[in-house]
Amino acid sequence: MSLVTAGAVAIGVALAAVTVSSGGGAAVGATPSCRGDHITVASLASGCAVSSGTVVLPDGRRFTVPPVGTTVQALPVAASGAGDPGDVSLTNTGRAGLAVRVDDHWSGSPAAVRQERAAVQHRNAALGSTSGAATTTATTSAPSSCSNKTYTRLGVRWASRVDWRYNATGQKVAGVTAIRAGADAWTGALSSCGKKVASTASDRYLGTATEAPGVTAAGGCGSSSGTSVAGWGSLRSGTLAVTCVWSRSGVAVEVDERYSTAVAWSVSTTCTGTRFDLRGVATHEWGHGFGLGHTAQSSGLVMKPASTTCETGQRTLGLGDLMGIDALY
Ligand SMILES: [Zn+2]
Repeated sequence: MSLVTAGAVAIGVALAAVTVSSGGGAAVGATPSCRGDHITVASLASGCAVSSGTVVLPDGRRFTVPPVGTTVQALPVAASGAGDPGDVSLTNTGRAGLAVRVDDHWSGSPAAVRQERAAVQHRNAALGSTSGAATTTATTSAPSSCSNKTYTRLGVRWASRVDWRYNATGQKVAGVTAIRAGADAWTGALSSCGKKVASTASDRYLGTATEAPGVTAAGGCGSSSGTSVAGWGSLRSGTLAVTCVWSRSGVAVEVDERYSTAVAWSVSTTCTGTRFDLRGVATHEWGHGFGLGHTAQSSGLVMKPASTTCETGQRTLGLGDLMGIDALY
């Protein structure tokens, strides 16, 4: 008898919950700008919960709304001299709405921003403090990647090996070997600038993919597919490549890389002309893939935000790059 009563009470609670939930849904529905394929950052400031659709930044970059509890980050690398569009991070907190970050500027739902700022701070603190992080060392007359100890973190790391695939569609050069080398630059026994570290970052190339990387032509991020893919496609003028990293509570779950089909590339060590060194740029992209952010352009490090033509030196980690991967893994 008591069981029946308990069941009836449980049903009553469930019905009440459904009623409240549908009421909430109707309220969200009354704010059409928080749905669909053109959700503006300004509309997110209302704190609306968003479960699907596309967020469009003021600069036109588009992001498929990540699942609740997921953060997606877009990290571009620019051609030297071109404008840096800025690093983007978008977190779906669920009820508190979406937090948007472009470089160090936060926007979106205030409650989500408070929550995500605290979470990022907490995660970075858990990874250990780094005096050099997010700061630049005193500028010297001749910046050298072996005298600069700076690095920054995305607040993300892999808890497992990165399994990834390559999509050759549209490739400007036969690129898989160079992109694999870019990944391997961060894994295993590393030696650079007279210093050795053992990196536990690891990756495995699984072969070719037919699916495209989840990076959009404007430099935003599409949907997370569950498969990490490197590939090719058009990107805005001045952008050489974009990496998108999806993570949950600081644990990376997917990394996709898109290399621009609008510029000329080289895979040779004897690079000449107005070509960009694919292996060097891929080393930079994989630095993001493993959780490193940008350093100052003057650092001369692999993780500086822009590359010059034939910059084969970017294939080799500088001191800050080495310290960064060592701190993360
Ligand atoms: Zn970058």
